Amino acid sequence: MDTLTSELIDELATTHTLPIEGYEHLVAHQDEEAAALLAQHADAVRRSIYGTDVFVRGLIEFSSICRNDCLYCGLRASNASCERYRLSEEQILFCVDMGYELGFRTFVLQSGEDGWYTDERLCPIVSAIRASHPDCAITLSVGERSRESYARLREAGADRYLLRHETADPDHYALLHPKEMSFDHRMRCVCDLRELGYLVGVGMMVGSPYQTTAHLARDLAFIDRFKPEMCGIGPFIPHHATPFADRAAGTLEQTCYLLSIIRLIHPTVLLPATTALGTIHPNGRERGILAGANVVMPNLSPSDVRTKYLLYDGKICMGDEAAECRRCLDLRMERIGYHVVVDRGDPRPNPADTTRRPA
Ligand code: SAH
Repeated sequence: MDTLTSELIDELATTHTLPIEGYEHLVAHQDEEAAALLAQHADAVRRSIYGTDVFVRGLIEFSSICRNDCLYCGLRASNASCERYRLSEEQILFCVDMGYELGFRTFVLQSGEDGWYTDERLCPIVSAIRASHPDCAITLSVGERSRESYARLREAGADRYLLRHETADPDHYALLHPKEMSFDHRMRCVCDLRELGYLVGVGMMVGSPYQTTAHLARDLAFIDRFKPEMCGIGPFIPHHATPFADRAAGTLEQTCYLLSIIRLIHPTVLLPATTALGTIHPNGRERGILAGANVVMPNLSPSDVRTKYLLYDGKICMGDEAAECRRCLDLRMERIGYHVVVDRGDPRPNPADTTRRPA
């Protein structure tokens, strides 16, 4: 680690911000020593806010049908070999009830951009969950929709929304997406969601094709500016039936390094150790938690559809039942000294933040 890197880490750990050049230097000068120092600071700040609590989200992948053609994603419309399915309202509500019994208090409904789920179809599902489980948080991750649609879903009872920005660099965005999709529209959606009162999750893949250190620095500067309540980052993993089939996957080391930086930029952020991280390394999720993550998102989807929701190759937990996933994660977290809690897992205030007025 060079002197500037160590000074930047100290500055980040103290002030929780750096100029974009500082982020670029950190990304470009990643080594084991810098990673260990960042993780140590990130762990300390996370413990001061969340202790050893790890939040769980029950992920329900309710449709693999997608109109988009993102170059990296196995669900892309032009992948003819992807088996498509759609869960019925009854199936979704069954997953939620089972998840509740297993101790989940947040449900994430994720899907491709499936036009069948109009507001008229999706809002009643959200309302039904809201009515049957008033103590739970409902998170949607269903892609780009109109502001009006986001407003209706919010009124129906959705609390949070995950819409990864994918990359904060418009030119890079254009290399990852078909020309029908636009960076400006994605950012417009992210801003609409915030204005409508959702807790918003953004994020990017680590090691996606064409990604440079300058792109990652822009991502970090965006996270610094926007301060999303949640931030999903995981390694890019190639899917065999996409144009990026032969590209290299992102690494565990770089993902963990960025998780630590993001924890320091935004101490209260809800930061998952993603399934993709668990896919590229057998202890990926544990390593993510140790680097500063505080959320895990086990799968609640029915076992028979899991093998059809394949964003990338090699995805873990394919044959498991929801209860097994939950137990396995409990054990994995206990083994590293953390505890999965039965909790909605909302952001907690930072005790060090003296600018906050008491509630
Ligand atoms: N249709 C929704 C949900 C997309 S899937 C939406 O557009 O928001 C959730 C995330 O998986 C994506 O945002 C993307 O960042 C990630 N993802 C997709 N393909 C991937 C791949 N090949 N490797 C790693 N992550 C991938």
